[in-house]
Amino acid sequence: MTTDLSTYAKKNNVKYFMISYTDLFGGQRAKLVPAQAIADMQRDGAGFAGFATWLDLTPAHPDMLAVPDPASVIQLPWKPEVAWVAADCLMDGAEVAQAPRNTLRRLIGEASAEGYQVKTGVEAEFFLVLPDGSAISDPADTAAKPCYDQQAVMRRYDVIAEICDYMLDLGWGPYQNDHEDANGQFEMNWAFDEALVTADRHSFFKFMVRSVAEKHGLRATFMPKPFPGLTGNGCHAHISVWNSDGGNAFADDDKELGLSDKGRNFLGGIMKHASALAAITNPTVNSYKRINAPRTISGATWSPNTITWTGNNRTHMVRVPGPGRFELRLPDGAVNPYLLQSVIIAAGLDGLRSQADPGRRYDIDMYAMGHTVKGAPKLPLNLLDALREFDRDKSLKSAMGEAFSAAYLKLKRKEWDSYAQHFTQWERDNTLDI
Ligand SMILES: [Mg+2]
Repeated sequence: MTTDLSTYAKKNNVKYFMISYTDLFGGQRAKLVPAQAIADMQRDGAGFAGFATWLDLTPAHPDMLAVPDPASVIQLPWKPEVAWVAADCLMDGAEVAQAPRNTLRRLIGEASAEGYQVKTGVEAEFFLVLPDGSAISDPADTAAKPCYDQQAVMRRYDVIAEICDYMLDLGWGPYQNDHEDANGQFEMNWAFDEALVTADRHSFFKFMVRSVAEKHGLRATFMPKPFPGLTGNGCHAHISVWNSDGGNAFADDDKELGLSDKGRNFLGGIMKHASALAAITNPTVNSYKRINAPRTISGATWSPNTITWTGNNRTHMVRVPGPGRFELRLPDGAVNPYLLQSVIIAAGLDGLRSQADPGRRYDIDMYAMGHTVKGAPKLPLNLLDALREFDRDKSLKSAMGEAFSAAYLKLKRKEWDSYAQHFTQWERDNTLDI
């Protein structure tokens, strides 16, 4: 593990470091620092005006210092003279409580104090589109059922293989890449790991995919629903919890689906808080065009609309695909990598502490038979509903941190207001002659 960035620079011929932090809206903000200045920056941090990014700070606040975490450093495979390093935000000698990486580190600390280590893998789907974002980039990618289309994935081999080669070089353990269920959509999988490692890699993955796409004259988007009628970008999370002795706390062959009592309780926490945590896992106006969506051209949305769980069946919010883990299918491509992990841990720990019951398991095809399920709560229909649910969920707000929750709700409500004041053609078409 890297501990001294100056030594790292000399050893790896790094000329510049990107000291990078992620704000509440998932924006990655960085300063480029020459290697000769990195020793001071590692000690003191790089100065930022916090108000200039989405952190709910004012212009009057003092400098915010982003202190790089050397364990996270990654040399850019496509520009090796530059290294990216995730940073933690401080102000006046204290952590900025609402900064997403600080929120996650605090929750990991709470889990650790109770003897648990949360490990996750994420499936960050994306589209390759034209540089102006108006359409997918491959005009020949028109199949009605494009999932796993081998011809289409090979037409984008240069992009996909370059990214996968980089993940191999970085030691992330990538193991498969495919064309996904929408025209122009792809998914690349790498090995699961401890939540902070996954959050840093998820952030870097988005940066890397966008950078490589740009290099090839394309644009990559993780937007939840970039094209009506096509499957949206999910960011499914595979979750397991490990004991301090290294054993999987979710695995128990004697229990239903191989999920231990602790696994059920953790899942119970996710189910209990689902409509509130959607404000984090589905954080944009557009997110709600992916969930609750009408059937797509391919035949399914692959996204949930109801708070239900099941075994190995992709039509529910949670799938238990095998022993010792479960898949949360709710998050989308807009999710903030640090807040995704944070809210999983916050809801799951509450489930463990309260011995939450995940409720009845449904093994039906939820897309076809969902109307037969009575009493299962629906997911929020829009961002405002989700924010209201989050605001009502006092225990989740408290677990995520009062400072974080207040800042997030304030900024996201402003975003909703800006959307709500936007006049649309739909309104004119449906109201002009009323
Ligand atoms: Mg997928």
